Amino acid sequence: MTSKAPAAQVKAGEIATAALQAVADKVRPGVSGAELDRLAEQVIRDRGGVPAFKGYRGFPATICLSINEQVVHGIPGDRKLEDGDLASIDIGVKVDGYYVDTAVTVAVGDSSPEADRLRVAADTALAIALFQARDGHTIGDLGAAVETYAKEEGFAVVRDCVGHGIGTGLHEDPAIPNYGKKGKGSRFSAGQTVAIEPMLVAGSPHLAMAEDHWTLSTEDGSLAAHAEETVLITEEEPVRLTPVTDFAADPGTLSGEKAGARVIKATQHTESR
Ligand code: MG
Repeated sequence: MTSKAPAAQVKAGEIATAALQAVADKVRPGVSGAELDRLAEQVIRDRGGVPAFKGYRGFPATICLSINEQVVHGIPGDRKLEDGDLASIDIGVKVDGYYVDTAVTVAVGDSSPEADRLRVAADTALAIALFQARDGHTIGDLGAAVETYAKEEGFAVVRDCVGHGIGTGLHEDPAIPNYGKKGKGSRFSAGQTVAIEPMLVAGSPHLAMAEDHWTLSTEDGSLAAHAEETVLITEEEPVRLTPVTDFAADPGTLSGEKAGARVIKATQHTESR
């Protein structure tokens, strides 16, 4: 059993991480989704990758840009980001037939304390999920840990969209929900590559589809945040092929420190159950 990701997938991970970092660095009030999309495509192609979402089932762009109540699959366009927005940026990259998929949610200018709390919670939920993503643990272990944490923070997990296997296909089995029962579901096994992606909302988790047939938003208009990494499962902590939440976190802020402490607490909690 191999515990190494294919070289092409490792390279795709490096490219996706660089592209997402470049886009996140450019996020500010007044920048349009189209500008961010062009930057992402340029970084990906300059480094020898292919944007994986562009053309996928007809999706028209390199990134998904989902703002505020938009949860996932938003189409970047002329709309400019505004001070206080929450922007989820999702990027897929393909290299020599292998895919990675990764996302972060960033604050645009000064966001509200509630928005900040939700954004940090999405990163923390991902860290908690990654702790569960290892050989022998079940998919239910991961989902239960994420959902328990989200509820304790007063948030809900989206149930209509899930993480997934990823390799020579962008979306492969297994489906990896952000809810579940400890001990239930199939087991992770070393050598598997998966995309883990908690989606948290401040209100009801019910989603509505926009007229563009892509953008999924919360039905009640409440804020959403999304964090995603592609990882290789091993017998210990997974190998992170797209470690994007490291730069998305704010280790210097109170919320970041609290989030770090919360990961430790939550992981101990889920381990002891
Ligand atoms: Mg995904």
